[in-house]
Order: sequence, then structure tokens, then C-alpha cells
Amino acid sequence: MPLAAAIIPVTPFQQNCALVWDEESKRGVVIDPGGDLDRIQAAIAELGLTIETILLTHGHIDHAGGAAALAEALAVPIVGPSREDAFLLDDLPAQGARFGFEGVRAVTPDRWLTEGETVGIGGHDFGVLHCPGHTPGHVVFTNAAAGFAIVGDVLFQGSVGRTDFPYGDGAALIAGIRGKLFPLGDEIAFICGHGPGSTFGAERRGNPFAGDGAQDG
Ligand SMILES: [Zn+2]
Repeated sequence: MPLAAAIIPVTPFQQNCALVWDEESKRGVVIDPGGDLDRIQAAIAELGLTIETILLTHGHIDHAGGAAALAEALAVPIVGPSREDAFLLDDLPAQGARFGFEGVRAVTPDRWLTEGETVGIGGHDFGVLHCPGHTPGHVVFTNAAAGFAIVGDVLFQGSVGRTDFPYGDGAALIAGIRGKLFPLGDEIAFICGHGPGSTFGAERRGNPFAGDGAQDG
């Protein structure tokens, strides 16, 4: 029962909203529905998916701005991120006003996540890792058997998440990438919040901020 994934870039930030599902049962999740819900719902319908859950990696507007409305429309729970991002999820309407997003609602997840828990994606268990630094409550979803991870704004192809926020922590971000993500294995492929995905091995070898050759490494 292999997993499949589709990416729908949403919002002016071109954030990678991801659909991940089991190919046999067509059951799955929406990860980080930041906005453009009409396009997300059209993709769900086109693929014939039954969505069970909305997963959030962190509380930024381009990831979570559409979560409350989509949860209501699909009648599914919102799961994640970690509780440390509550201040961002409470602040979503203000974030929306700042960036010109309309109708953004605050989010109260049905379930907060902590490291070591698992979440189900179409019947497949994904582990939860807490990787703070970009935001305090950022989580990453991993499935070693499928060789697959969803890392949000922690790690990108050739880059890492911003930490120039009042609550940012660059050292924690790099420590999480090196201490929690890379040890999962070079072969793990990931979807990230912006731009093309990559593998942990390619980033360990070549990422200028978190890789083996990074200046502080
Ligand atoms: Zn972010």
C-alpha cells in the first residue's frame, strides 16, 4: 500500500500545501493549507481522496491561514503543531491583515503534538519530531519505512528556515536538522514548505547552512 503525494503551491508565498494519501484506500491528509482553499479542494476532488485530518507543521500564515475554514468544510480535525506555536495560531487574523490575506481565522488545533508521538496518514504511522528554531512549536512528520518526511520550513533544498524573528533560534534549528533529521538516513526524501524537495543525504553533503561543510560545522 504505497503512499502518494501531491503539492499545491498556495498563497503569494508559494507555500507547498501537500496532499499525502494511501494509493489503495485513497484516504489521506492535507498538510499546511495556508490558503487558496478552492484549489486545494479541487485537487482533493480530482484525485478522489477522502481527507481524514489536517496536519500543521507550524503556525505561520502561509501554512495555517486556511486551516480553520478547511477543517470546517471537510469536517475533519486539525492536528499539530506543538503547543509552543499557540501564540502564532492565535495571531493568524493579525498576520493575515499584515499580509493582505482575507478572512483568515485563528486556529485551535484539536490535538497538539509532542515529539515521539505518531500521526496516521491513510493508515500509515508517521513519527513526530519537534524541530524548533524557525518557530518554537515547529514539528516534522517522518516515515522511515516509506523513506519520506514532511519538514515544513525547517530545511529546504540548499537552504534552511528563516530564524530572524523575535522568537527565532538559529542554533536550535541547525541542531534539530543535524541531531534529529539527518540521522534518519541519507535516503529519506522530503517535501518542504517552499520550492523543490530533496533528500537528507543531499542536504547533509551539500547544504551550506546545515551540511557537513557548513562553516560552523
Ligand atoms: Zn514558516
